[in-house]
Amino acid sequence: MTKQDLEVAISEKQIRLVYQPKIECATGALTGFEALARWDHPELGLVMPDLFIPLAEQSGLIDAITDQVAGQALRWYGDTPAVQGLTLSINLSEKSLGNMELADRLKAKCAEAGISEGCVILEIAEQSAMDDQLLTLDMFAGLRMLGFRVSIDHFGLRETSTPLLARLPFSEIKIDKSIALADSRSFESQEYIKSKVDLGHRLGLSVVTEGVEDRETLEFLKKIGCDIAQGYYIACPMSGDLVTDWMYGRDEARMRRLL
Ligand code: C2E
Ligand code: MG
Repeated sequence: MTKQDLEVAISEKQIRLVYQPKIECATGALTGFEALARWDHPELGLVMPDLFIPLAEQSGLIDAITDQVAGQALRWYGDTPAVQGLTLSINLSEKSLGNMELADRLKAKCAEAGISEGCVILEIAEQSAMDDQLLTLDMFAGLRMLGFRVSIDHFGLRETSTPLLARLPFSEIKIDKSIALADSRSFESQEYIKSKVDLGHRLGLSVVTEGVEDRETLEFLKKIGCDIAQGYYIACPMSGDLVTDWMYGRDEARMRRLL
């Protein structure tokens, strides 16, 4: 894949989105969806973001991708009555840190789609957020002033100091999926997750654990007071047109106590 391929992908709108639900651990209630990018490549088929987001970042095309992703996600949200009031999470690249024009464009897209910024959570990886703290502080403060919520994604892969975390105006941490996936039943893994959940709560933040692939992990998260869970056990990412049916099917199963 080359920069030219990616330019074609952008101009021909080959980037599409899937949405993965997030639920409240304590009650099982749906809290929102995360938009995840896929590249529908005409010859290669479906290309996953871990393969093309780094290429977009290196070739200076990431802002164009973020614009398309945010535009699509916000339009979908605005056009889908069933998801109103839930949150919509959008991933931002580390290359967008400091780009307040992007933040203003996101605000304009919210207005176009008739969506309150308070429903939108912008996720930025912990690694990049901590590497340039001044830029991060500026950007996070700007996004918060525009009304967005900000989340630290891929949390727990490095040791960030608590005072530093306390200084940053974000509202959620997302414990990286590799941590729950490693061995969620081992004592070490459970203690690690618990320490991150406790840290988040001490800072007054909502804590999401992703990579929840089985009932035991969800039960454990519930027991230790983790706020939100995301993972294949709850649902795999799905295309936007399947979300409403999925929600009704889930409500029905919950009413019949099947979930
Ligand atoms: P992420 O933001 O941490 O997103 C969660 C990833 O974990 C998704 O992978 C999702 O499909 C996967 N996942 C969710 N639940 C489970 C589970 O139970 N088990 C396992 N094994 N995996 C699970 P995906 O879609 O391949 O995305 C990978 C990463 O690519 C994302 O990680 C995010 O950092 C990045 N990404 C995705 N879409 C975008 C985008 O629009 N813009 C930017 N800048 N980055 C994006
Ligand atoms: Mg994310």
